[in-house]
Amino acid sequence: LAERLQGTISKLRGKGKVTETDVKEMMREVRLALLEADVNFKVVKQFISTVKERAIGQEVLKSLTPGQQVIKVVNEELTNLMGGEQSKIAVASKPPTVVMMVGLQGAGKTTTTGKLANHLRKKHNRNPLMVAADIYRPAAIKQLETLGKQLNMPVFSMGDQVSPVEIAKNAMEKAKEDHHDYVLIDTAGRLHVDEELMNELEEIKELTSPDEILLVVDAMTGQDAVNVAESFNERLGITGVVLTKLDGDTRGGAALSIKAVTDTPIKFAGMGEKIDALEAFHPERMASRILGMGDVLTLIEKAQTNVDEEKAKELERKMRSNELTFDDFLEQLEQVKSMGPLDELLNMMPGAGKMKGMKNIQVDDKQLGHIEAIVKSMTKAEKEDPSILNASRRRRIAKGSGTTIQEVNRLIKQFGEMKKMMKQMAGMQGKGKKKGGFK
Ligand code: GDP
Ligand code: MG
Repeated sequence: LAERLQGTISKLRGKGKVTETDVKEMMREVRLALLEADVNFKVVKQFISTVKERAIGQEVLKSLTPGQQVIKVVNEELTNLMGGEQSKIAVASKPPTVVMMVGLQGAGKTTTTGKLANHLRKKHNRNPLMVAADIYRPAAIKQLETLGKQLNMPVFSMGDQVSPVEIAKNAMEKAKEDHHDYVLIDTAGRLHVDEELMNELEEIKELTSPDEILLVVDAMTGQDAVNVAESFNERLGITGVVLTKLDGDTRGGAALSIKAVTDTPIKFAGMGEKIDALEAFHPERMASRILGMGDVLTLIEKAQTNVDEEKAKELERKMRSNELTFDDFLEQLEQVKSMGPLDELLNMMPGAGKMKGMKNIQVDDKQLGHIEAIVKSMTKAEKEDPSILNASRRRRIAKGSGTTIQEVNRLIKQFGEMKKMMKQMAGMQGKGKKKGGFK
């Protein structure tokens, strides 16, 4: 999706204003991109018409190029499509709050039950009881019990010879007795939606009157996830969705369609197998992710007020051709410093999240002073070609700048990483275009 959009966007770049034809052309690409990302076609159709209307009717802001303007609308509408604001988990007026976890087999219900228990304790200071009500899948009970042990949190189970409804009933009593404020019921799944399962889930629902029925769906299943969501919603009336396995190489289309089709918010995102890999779902971040551009818009806004366009172009050219010198590095750090915390800014850069080297490049203001001193102690030749910096030169620089040899080494290493990363990034953004502004 990202690539396709980037291509279209770059076509619009450099134009003075958006015409209706531009928008139409761009929307054709967006439409294809969304379909390719496995977004439901009805959803796509609605989406495109909304964006078209907004994009064509809008006055062109001075600070944004037409391409950026359209992206902004696309981004905002994607965010709206996924629910706009972030949505929180229910809290019952009278505890315990009952949360039923439902979904197909392998979607991540049991894992998410553990993650959610951990989240509720850690973030909300709650005391949840996990309930093992999947008696069908071999080792499902054991799996939840293991999670409970790992977290040192209680799991209610009665083995696999008692019906799930009976288990739920007993669990509710136990929860009241032990003053748990949340009850998380891990139910069984099937490979496909079937009557027997739905009947059982309905019975549990009837008996426990859940405050929240969370449908757990595997983001990797794309369009199927939407059908599943629709079926579960029809029978049970889900109140929220947890989208798991978003850490994988998913296309994100499911996230878009599910909210639109079921009209229930996505509340959490599963970002890995580990117990703490659960995040509140942020629609605007997902929109950016789907667009594959990081928080490009914010970055554009910040950059435009702070960075001199000409310099940025020159810098970009150097990034692309890998001619970046220490002087550029320093200059960029200084520019960036005027925009806000550096690591925050780096996170907003497209594709940065994917790059491992990124984590090592964290600079605070004090360090920046040291970096400046180090760079200034270099000769012109050294700045341009760090590979000539042997041990004795490094020692000299450390002395000259009043820093340590370790700091000098670290900076040289970071610079190398940054250079590598910038080259990668330039490569990513540079596909199919020659010119472009700093983003
Ligand atoms: P259930 O059948 O719905 O209870 O699914 P499980 O909780 O047993 O999860 C099925 C598999 O998916 C397990 O191997 C989990 O570790 C894995 N899984 C669950 N959530 C995530 C996630 O957010 N990311 C990744 N990468 N794996 C996950
Ligand atoms: Mg399970």
